[in-house]
Amino acid sequence: MYTERFDKRNFNELRPMEAETGIVPNAKGSARFRIGNTEAVAAVYGPEEVKPRHIEKADRAVILCKYDMLPFSVPDRAKPGMDRRDIEISQVITNALNRAIILEEMPRAMINIRVYITQADAGTRCASLTAASMACADAGLPMRDLVAAVAAGKIGDSVCLDLTKEEEDFHEGEGATDVPIAFLPSKNEIVLLQLDGRVSKEDLKKIVEIGKEGAMKIYELEKKALKRRFSNESKS
Ligand code: ADP
Repeated sequence: MYTERFDKRNFNELRPMEAETGIVPNAKGSARFRIGNTEAVAAVYGPEEVKPRHIEKADRAVILCKYDMLPFSVPDRAKPGMDRRDIEISQVITNALNRAIILEEMPRAMINIRVYITQADAGTRCASLTAASMACADAGLPMRDLVAAVAAGKIGDSVCLDLTKEEEDFHEGEGATDVPIAFLPSKNEIVLLQLDGRVSKEDLKKIVEIGKEGAMKIYELEKKALKRRFSNESKS
């Protein structure tokens, strides 16, 4: 049984969050998103000339995204360089952003996105997507909507929002189920849905629902961070 969360949060409660944009001066757009002890920093460069040339598309931009966990972001020290997990996460972030950015408005261009995890305590792919989408908006890229992402899941009999690493590792019965979800809130569109573990159809529905409620709160925070940035800019 998992009746009380390790950090005493309610089952539908997010960890404390912070969001800010415009933090990397040399990037076209940038953002930092922290949720509990997970933090992602994203920087966006472009639209620029496509390199290597053979990936250029005549009718749209291409996104090149790299997710990287900094060595000191986890207690064990992550191995530098991209492993299979980093490649997979870079791909799912790209897939989601392909839906969010209006690529057709930037033919023959490349958008370079770098995401660094400075601290990891589960949910890094979701934090990365949230930070990357804010950075794209900060860069002034044409977008259908921001992406708001969070993991939800099931621990014991309880459907939970925003799992920590300690919760992901909880072992009872079949262990924890973790479902990273990303939305384009104003389009009511899911742009990322993965499943690590086992879950019934009914529970998956509940997990998506609780994830959606959490994502709406993240969406509000993202918009606030962007508004703050642009109202500060108009003052200076
Ligand atoms: P996500 O970070 O999106 O939840 P995973 O489920 O693959 O993706 O990872 C869960 C968590 O496991 C990470 O957020 C991090 O806390 C931890 N983790 C992942 N890779 C490593 C690693 N190489 N060393 C130590 N911890 C790691």
